[in-house]
This record gives sequence, structure tokens and C-alpha cells, in this order.
Amino acid sequence: MEEKRGRLTLDSYAKDLKDKLRKEVSVIPGETDAGPLTRFELTDRIIDLCRANSLWPMTFGIACCAIEMMAAGMARFDISRYGSEVFRPSPRQSDLMIVAGTVNKKFAPILVTLYEQMPSPKWVIAMGNCAISGGPFAPKENYNIIEGVDKLIPVDVYVPGCPPRPEGLIEGILKLQEKITKVRYPFPQNKMPAEDTAGIQTRWPKWGKDK
Ligand code: SF4
Repeated sequence: MEEKRGRLTLDSYAKDLKDKLRKEVSVIPGETDAGPLTRFELTDRIIDLCRANSLWPMTFGIACCAIEMMAAGMARFDISRYGSEVFRPSPRQSDLMIVAGTVNKKFAPILVTLYEQMPSPKWVIAMGNCAISGGPFAPKENYNIIEGVDKLIPVDVYVPGCPPRPEGLIEGILKLQEKITKVRYPFPQNKMPAEDTAGIQTRWPKWGKDK
């Protein structure tokens, strides 16, 4: 009993100390209780920049939207321009889950397990209407569809469409980068001088006009 009382006293002392420090250390706007006690502003910003530009998605496709996700990794769209081409075969090596497809109730526990196996910090993109709301498979009669993956795990960015094009997914990744760094970086194409941009556009095939 004595020992228990001692531990309780120690706990309350630790709580008092924490509260006192929290009042003294500058409060970060928007910070919740779950946030760290102190922060190193510049270091945090550099780490966030590194994280945002080296997102490693999990190799994880559930349905037709996954084809568009694969296309985003191919040469034409080339997701590696944004540092996200390293699709990892294990959730333990991934920090981004792109939910590309329909989630049914049978699959839900597997999805949650995979999410829990990812190390923190981790992010989720809901790609396509199925992942966002159940999509075309969520009429009243369908008893087996999860109407939105955000009912299972927290979602950071929603990319609508059935399916969204690879450009849509790339925009979603840029949005996520913006969320992590709080800065929106422009497309590399926007940085090119006007004459270079014109030169590149003339080298591109004019789809539909060549025939
Ligand atoms: S949103 Fe459309 S394309 Fe994507 S998984 Fe659902 S049905 Fe397929």
C-alpha cells in the first residue's frame, strides 16, 4: 500500500512538473497535448522537407485505381520527379499508404493491420471514389463495402475520380508534401524559362493529331 502511494505521488509530481514546463516553454499555435514539449524549429523544418520529398509508398493496390497508381510510376508520368517512386514491398519500410480501390469488410482488418505495421510518421492518401466513399459499389443493398477508408484509418489527402488519372495522384502527393512542409513547391516545369518550355512542348508527341 505504501509503495502504491509512493508511486502515485511520483506520478502526480511528474504531472505537475510537465504542466509547469508546458506553461514556461513557448506554446506552439495549434499544438495539442500530444505534441512534444520542445521543438527545434529549423531542424524540424529540414526533417519535414526531407520526409516530404522522399515519401515511400507501400506496394498496395486493391482494385482498378491501382492501375492508375502504377501508371503514375511509369516513364510518362514519372512519380520519381517528386521522390515517391520507391514503392516498398513491406509496410515496415513504408511511410505512405495509397488506398487505391474498393475496401470491403473482409479486407478491412488486413488494411488496418498493414497501417499499424507502418512506422510513424505515416500518411494515407485515399485514391478514387471507392476509397473515399465506397464509390459505385455502395448502394443501399450492398452490405459488404466500407463506405470510405477514413472509417478505418485517418486519411490525409483525398483524390477523387473513378478512377483519378495519374496526374490526380501526383497532385495528391504534392498536396501531401504541402501538408507536411506547409509550403507549396511549384512543378519543375514552371521554373523553366519560356523558350525552354516551348522547346519541350514541340518535342512532345501531339496526341491524336499525328493520325
Ligand atoms: S473508384 Fe472507380 S476505378 Fe477506382 S477502384 Fe473504384 S470503381 Fe475502380
